[in-house]
Amino acid sequence: ARASAPAPEMPSFSSGASPQKQQHNARRKQLIRQQRKSLPIASVEKRLVDEVRKNDTLIVVGETGSGKTTQLPQFLYDGGFCQDGKVIGITQPRRVAAVTVAKRVAEECNDQLGRKVGYSIRFDDSTSNATRIKYMTDGLLLREALLDPLLSKYSVIVVDEAHERTVHTDVLLGLLKKVQHSRCLHANKNGKISGRPDHSQSSTLKACQGIKIAPLKLIIMSASLDAKCFSDYFGGAKAVHIQGRQYPVDTLYTYQPESDYLDATLVTIFQIHLEEGPGDILAFLTGQEEIESLERLIQERARQFPADSSKIWITPIYSSLPSEQQMNAFKPAPSGARKVVLATNIAETSVTIPGIKYVIDPGMVKARAYNPVTGMESLIIIPVSKAQALQRSGRAGREGPGKCFRLFQECEFDKLAESTIPEIKRCNLANVVLQLKALGIDDIIGFDFMEKPSRTSILKSLEQLILLGALTDDYKLSDPVGKQMARLPLDPMYSKALIVSNEFKCLEEMLIVVSMLSVESIFFTPREKLEEARAARKSFESSEGDHITLVNVYRAAAECLEKSKNANAKEKTMEKALNRWCFENFINYRSLRHARDVHSQIQGHVQQMGLNLSSCGDDMVQFRRCLTAAFFLNAAMRQPDGSFRALATGQSVQMHPSSVLFRTKPDCVVFNELVRTTQNYVKNLTRIDPLWLAELAPQYYATED
Ligand code: ADP
Ligand code: MG
Repeated sequence: ARASAPAPEMPSFSSGASPQKQQHNARRKQLIRQQRKSLPIASVEKRLVDEVRKNDTLIVVGETGSGKTTQLPQFLYDGGFCQDGKVIGITQPRRVAAVTVAKRVAEECNDQLGRKVGYSIRFDDSTSNATRIKYMTDGLLLREALLDPLLSKYSVIVVDEAHERTVHTDVLLGLLKKVQHSRCLHANKNGKISGRPDHSQSSTLKACQGIKIAPLKLIIMSASLDAKCFSDYFGGAKAVHIQGRQYPVDTLYTYQPESDYLDATLVTIFQIHLEEGPGDILAFLTGQEEIESLERLIQERARQFPADSSKIWITPIYSSLPSEQQMNAFKPAPSGARKVVLATNIAETSVTIPGIKYVIDPGMVKARAYNPVTGMESLIIIPVSKAQALQRSGRAGREGPGKCFRLFQECEFDKLAESTIPEIKRCNLANVVLQLKALGIDDIIGFDFMEKPSRTSILKSLEQLILLGALTDDYKLSDPVGKQMARLPLDPMYSKALIVSNEFKCLEEMLIVVSMLSVESIFFTPREKLEEARAARKSFESSEGDHITLVNVYRAAAECLEKSKNANAKEKTMEKALNRWCFENFINYRSLRHARDVHSQIQGHVQQMGLNLSSCGDDMVQFRRCLTAAFFLNAAMRQPDGSFRALATGQSVQMHPSSVLFRTKPDCVVFNELVRTTQNYVKNLTRIDPLWLAELAPQYYATED
C-alpha cells in the first residue's frame, strides 16, 4: 500500500431534519448568536453605522478577529444600506477568504449561501439577484468596473485587508476614488457636468445620464494600526479604531539557525503534540507544494505512534484548495484529536481559525518580485516582515494565552524589514495597465496611485503590451486584440496565447495548457517516492516539453472520467474514480480538479468571444509554433556551457529539474515561469526551433537588414 494516503475527509451530514438534527441546529444557532455578541465590534455597531452615514469614506482599523469582515456588512444591511436592491460589496485580496467568510456570514444570517449573502471570485460565482452582501476578490471588482464603470449596483464598497497592499487593492483604491467622485458629481448634478471637466470621467458620466445613482460609500478596513496612509490618500478621511482583545503570547525562538524549515516545522509540530497541553496548532508555510509534502510527512510519522496515542487531524488551507476542503480548517477536531492547520499567509489576517493556541512561524513567505529593467517577474521565497511575524504570533492569543514558535533566532527578528513593500512596487504591471486602459484611463503615469510604481516599470509594461499587440503604437487599446485580452480573466500573456491559438487552430490544446498552468503543481512528487512518481509520469511525457505533457495528463484524466460516465456512474462515483486514477498516476487530484473548473470557465469566455474550439490533432509542430507565437517574450537559448540565456532579458537561467526537458537540454525553449532560489530556474518549457522566433514574432526578433 502507498504510504501517502490523502487527508482524511470529515464526515458530511445530510440535511434531513431528524429531531437530533433539529436540536443540533438550534444549539448551533444559539452558539453563533452568543459568539457574535461577544465580538469586540458588537459593542460599537450603532456608532459604526452612524459614522458610515455621516462620512463618505471611513477607515476602520481593528485587530484580526475583532469581527470586521463578518459583522460590519451585516450591521450596514440592518442599518438600511441595501434599500432599493442596492448591494454591499466587500473585497478580499484572497479567494479563500471571500469564500469562507461568505459561507460563515450566510450561516450567521441563517440563510443559504447565494441568497442574501454570496461570493464571487474568478472562476466561481455563488451570487444571485437576491444577493445583498457580496464578498469578492478585489481583482473581480476591478473586472466588474469594465462592464459598469460607476459600479452602480453598490451602495457601499468595503475594501478589506487594505494593509496587505496587494496590487489589486492599490489599483482598486485609485479607481474607487475616481468612481466616488463621479457618482458624487452625478448625484449632485444628475448627469450635468459642470466645473472643471475631467476628461477621463466625462465619457463614463455621459453614458450614465438619466440614471439615478446615489453617492458611493467607501470603507477601508485594515488590521494594521497605521491608518494614516489611507486617511491621507482619501483627503483626511476619518478613522475608527476598534478595541481588540488579545491574550498574551509567549514567543520562542530557536537557538541555532534552521537550515531546513520544513523539517523544523515537522519536528516542532510533534514536540508540541507530545509535550504541550490541549489546543490546536497553526503552521505558516509558503505554498501548496510545501503544505502537501508536510501533510504527508506528518501522516507518516504519526503512523509510527502507538495506536492508542492521541491523534493529529491535519487540515490544509490555501487558495486553490477546493472550498469544501478549506472549510475543514474551521471545524473542531474530532474528539481526542489535535487539529493541525497548515496554512499559507492567508491565515495571517484574512481568516480567523478558531481553536488555535500554538503558532509555528518559519518566517518565510512566497512573494512576487519584479525586475523593471528586464521586465521579468518571478516568485521568490523571502523572509517575512516584522509586521507579518507579529500578526502571525497574534493568531495564538485569540481565545486564551498561547505560544508562538519562531523557527529562527531572535537576532534574526531584529533584522527583518518593518513592513512589507506594497506589491505594486514589485510586480509586472502589464495586467494592471491593460485593465486601466480598458477602463478608459489612458494616462497611466498620471494615474492617482496611492503609491506610484516606478516610471520604468510602467513603461516596461506598456512596451510589453505593445509587443503582445494589446496596445497600438500610440498606446491605445487595440481592437479587437486588446479588448479581447482585457476581457479574459488571465495574465495578458495567457490571454494572448488563447487568441493566437485561435489563428493556429489549436485553441483546444491551448485552453488546456492555460488551465493547467493556472493551478499549482499538477504532478505529485513525494520525496520518498521519487522514482515511482517519475515512472508514473513517463506515460504522459512528451519529448517536446512540459506543455504537451500537461495536455496529455488532462486528456488522460478526461478519458478516465469518460469511461466511468459510460458505465453510467453517478457524479460522486466518477469523482472517486478520478481521485483513484490521480493517486495511482501521481497526479495531484486537487490541482487537477481546480484546473478542470478553470477550463470550463475560460471555455465559456472564449466561446462568448466567438472563438472556435479547434484542435490541431496530432500536429504538434503546429502547436509548438503557436506556443512560440504566444510566449516569444519568454524564450531561452542554450549556451556552450549548458546553461540557458533568456533572450528578452539576457539573464542566465537554468532548466528546472521538474521539466521533462531537463535531461535532453534542447537548443531553444519557451518557458512560462521563472523561479528564483539560489539560481534562476525556468519552468514549464517547450522545445522550439530558434528560427520560428523571427518568423512568428518579427516585431521583436526580426533583425534589420
Ligand atoms: P476580522 O475581520 O476583524 O479579522 P472576522 O469577522 O473575520 O474578524 O472574524 C470574527 C470572528 O468570527 C472570529 O474571531 C472567528 O471566531 C469567527 N469566525 C469567522 N469565520 C468563521 C468560520 N468560518 N467558522 C467559525 N468561526 C468563524
Ligand atoms: Mg477580516
